[in-house]
Amino acid sequence: MKSKQKKPKLDLTPYKNDIRNAINRTKKNGKEVSLTYCGDTLSDFAKGTAEATEVRGCSIYDKRERKNKVILDFHTHPVTKRGTWGVTPSGADVMGTMEESYRQKQKQVSCIASPKSKNIHCFIPKKVPDKKKISKYRKGINAKGYYGKPYHYSAPDIDSTRYKDATEFDLMVKNDFEHIWIKKRDFKSIQENTKSKTSDAMDAKRFGNVDSIKHIIPDLDRSQFCNRNIQGYNDPTNHEMANDCTKRLNSRLPQDIPFISGLAHRFRSRK
Ligand SMILES: [Zn+2]
Repeated sequence: MKSKQKKPKLDLTPYKNDIRNAINRTKKNGKEVSLTYCGDTLSDFAKGTAEATEVRGCSIYDKRERKNKVILDFHTHPVTKRGTWGVTPSGADVMGTMEESYRQKQKQVSCIASPKSKNIHCFIPKKVPDKKKISKYRKGINAKGYYGKPYHYSAPDIDSTRYKDATEFDLMVKNDFEHIWIKKRDFKSIQENTKSKTSDAMDAKRFGNVDSIKHIIPDLDRSQFCNRNIQGYNDPTNHEMANDCTKRLNSRLPQDIPFISGLAHRFRSRK
């Protein structure tokens, strides 16, 4: 029997239409769309392509409104966007959520979906961060930016302090957040370790074909990448996610295209 984890409850149904419209817009124009909710209303700051690290208030026009607290933010990841994988939050995304939670003295809920994802991925800090925590996060995000590529674990020319800070950032992310996955189709949350989570987290399109990732992630960095940047940022207690991710990265055949993977399966079993 699995131990029952107490997951925070999250109901996105009041925002269903906005979320669907945002995803559709991204599908059409390939650009990121973000929504910010203050209470049940969409903030006037909601449209466009706000950066995750930007300080988002509840209204840029009304002073009184500005004092309201943000209760939820949602943004899309375009399928082709570089620097992110599927619905995996970027370093800047988690940083933004932490900064906002600190500023507002309340845990901020952040959610991400892509036009290709089956699910919406939401993450919430387990605790409101204190000043010390925030400065650690800032240090870490700077270090990660320095490397340019967050998965150069075996880079030979690393600056050890920055390497340590960047590593610490990933470990903090792994420990500091609760994750909730919600089906895009019916907005019901999923508890089980479905493979759709891994495929959403990895951006199936980009990682479907091993030839395209061979250049992105060196072979020796793959399991680290899957452990830290895929499992750690998406579903930290789900070890299947890292395993599945590594398997996909090392696979020689395209995956996630049901027709082709069906064929691949037949092809494999014939041998
Ligand atoms: Zn993002």
